[in-house]
Amino acid sequence: MKWKDLVYQRVISFCNEIGSRTFSLDEFFAANEGVLRQSYPKNRFPRQKTCEMLQQLRNDGIITFLDYTGNYTLRGVDLLDVEKDETKTIDLSLETPERKEYMIESYVRNVRWARLAREVFGDYCLFEGCNNTFLRNDATPYIEVHHIIPLYKNGENSLFNLCVLCAHHHKMAHFADHNTVKHVESLLTSINQDFLRNHHAR
Ligand SMILES: [Zn+2]
Ligand SMILES: [Zn+2]
Repeated sequence: MKWKDLVYQRVISFCNEIGSRTFSLDEFFAANEGVLRQSYPKNRFPRQKTCEMLQQLRNDGIITFLDYTGNYTLRGVDLLDVEKDETKTIDLSLETPERKEYMIESYVRNVRWARLAREVFGDYCLFEGCNNTFLRNDATPYIEVHHIIPLYKNGENSLFNLCVLCAHHHKMAHFADHNTVKHVESLLTSINQDFLRNHHAR
């Protein structure tokens, strides 16, 4: 098997193992060093080679390099196993892309990028002036994580494409009329950029 194919295969199984589309070179290599060394015993620099292969996969549009966190994110694969598991009670093939996306976001709550989004963006809706929330049983405010550009449109699991919204604004972002959805998308993009800029300036 070619290096690139093996790395691609390992990336998919690794993402499935960790239950996240986002991963770093360090953790990916640490988990796969054994297999890679075994497959290519003559290569003396497997880490460097892995890095090159990830680069090639990036050029192919299969993964994206997220330079801010030093992480990669996998795309172009429809659903990870964890996402299938979380959504298996519904027949996703019957859903429109918008609704499918919303369901995946709603059911895949505990993966790393969703946690990260809440850590960075907080527990309150990013829509200006919105105070919509309620407390859960554990006394934390209820919030939903949203992909500004949906995954099915090649949006990414990265901080640059995530935001937090209240239930109302989240539904609006998915199910409003076409013009409103477009408007919300660009609004959220600039809110996200402002937020990350200010967040890092501090
Ligand atoms: Zn959403
Ligand atoms: Zn809101």
